[in-house]
Amino acid sequence: MLVGIIGGGLCGLAAARRALELGADVELFEREASTGGMASSLRAGELTFDLGPHTLYAGNPAIVRDIRGLLGGRLREVTPERGIWRQSRLYQFPFHLGDFVRTSGLRGAGLPLLRYVTARVTDRLNGPAEPSSLEEWAVRRFGRPLYEFYVRDHVTKNVGLSPTALPALWGRQRIRIPDLTEAAAQLMGRAAPPRVSYYPEHGIGRIPDALTTAVTRRGGRISTGTPVVGWARTPDGIELDTGTAARARVRKADVVVNTGPLDSFLLRARNDSVPPEVTEAARRLTYRSTVFVYVSTDDRRAQMPCDLCYFPEPAQIFSRVYSPAGYSEHCGGPSRTGFCFEIHCDPDDALWKETDDALARRTVAEAGTVPFFGFPDRLRVEAVVRVRRHYPLADPSSDALRTVDRFLDSSAPRVISAGRLGSHRYVNMDSAMLMGTAAAEAALGSGTAADIRRIADTPQFVETGRARR
Ligand SMILES: Cc1cc2nc3c(=O)[nH]c(=O)nc-3n(C[C@H](O)[C@H](O)[C@H](O)COP(=O)(O)OP(=O)(O)OC[C@H]3O[C@@H](n4cnc5c(N)ncnc54)[C@H](O)[C@@H]3O)c2cc1C
Repeated sequence: MLVGIIGGGLCGLAAARRALELGADVELFEREASTGGMASSLRAGELTFDLGPHTLYAGNPAIVRDIRGLLGGRLREVTPERGIWRQSRLYQFPFHLGDFVRTSGLRGAGLPLLRYVTARVTDRLNGPAEPSSLEEWAVRRFGRPLYEFYVRDHVTKNVGLSPTALPALWGRQRIRIPDLTEAAAQLMGRAAPPRVSYYPEHGIGRIPDALTTAVTRRGGRISTGTPVVGWARTPDGIELDTGTAARARVRKADVVVNTGPLDSFLLRARNDSVPPEVTEAARRLTYRSTVFVYVSTDDRRAQMPCDLCYFPEPAQIFSRVYSPAGYSEHCGGPSRTGFCFEIHCDPDDALWKETDDALARRTVAEAGTVPFFGFPDRLRVEAVVRVRRHYPLADPSSDALRTVDRFLDSSAPRVISAGRLGSHRYVNMDSAMLMGTAAAEAALGSGTAADIRRIADTPQFVETGRARR
């Protein structure tokens, strides 16, 4: 049995590893020059950066143990602190009642506090009915003033959509709201236990590097720089085309696991392998893209007061910044500190159409309006990296995704799609790896496409990490 895998991110690598364990032959095709996908790291001078702030969440201890073993123990426990920069002040993020009152002052906090308490009580009385949008979900839990302060602008800038257009699930997966007892404890100054997650020494890219080594050691074939540009079902399997437009280069597989974007995978099908209503639905799946601007400084005063910080206001084009050396000093250099600025936009936006130089200049100028980054003249741009379509704007209840899922249910196990882009669902690294494992099992006859997707909705893998007691 030959399993063909499209994509060498964490999901594809985990699928390859599991398929090999189960005795299959594996050939993995990665479009880029190296494996890793979104969990890659890059070197810029003496600094190491990731594609945005990545830590491995603690929801699945078996995954953490496995990765620690693969990395020979070089996996750090970290407790990322997050902040949100609003009205020239830094607030804790997610919302912390005590911090909000201390930073806003009692007068500024009075009304939001009252509305928050009312919302929490009413929400409890209202019972479990699912609100229809993220806005309704957040207002019911936070009250309107705190929703506007912490959620509305931040989400709109990050995702490019109003919270009225996003499902309530979006909030459930990402936002933790303290209950009233916890909020009262926060108000009395009792610190919440830190939330633990994990980070490899020398950058998050060490995880896919270790998986790549494990796959090749077991005899899996990995072809980098090899995009899959088309595929077709045949009576006895799947043909994958890794050629150019002028010359097809066909490889055969019994089963295919796709981990690249679900829409382009379906749109690349040939010979009527995908029915027209499914390709039409695939066209309606949407994504968000990001420009990463990597900056360094030799100014010793430059230091972020938290590991990563959100900037929801229009005064800055960037929406999130982090400093990788906060997780592992191996990512910093002897003389420079690095910052990664994320500009969330879409290829159709005016912002995306600006040149790399223009975006870099604006980033540096606007960083100068925030006191963390030191003296603006000492900021140096190290790299600008554009990543298209890495963030699926997924609503599992949308007609488009349901149509696509129904097709995948009926075509598994010959064609399996998994991972963040392959399932078009918001999943993190742990869930992406679990999905890869489940995809390999489905490919080899145990498990279904629905089992793979269920992983995306498992609450234990949400962003909050595990509280250290
Ligand atoms: C900014 C940011 C921050 C994040 N922070 C965290 C975090 O803190 N913690 C966490 O757990 N997760 C985080 N994540 C999510 C995490 O990165 C992803 O869930 C995980 O890396 C997804 O792995 P994947 O294999 O599903 O997808 P990808 O990593 O996207 O892998 C897909 C691969 O397929 C390749 N490919 C695509 N099309 C083709 C083709 N036609 N032919 C061949 N190859 C192809 C791509 O090049 C890519 O390598 C973050 C993501 C982002 C973008």
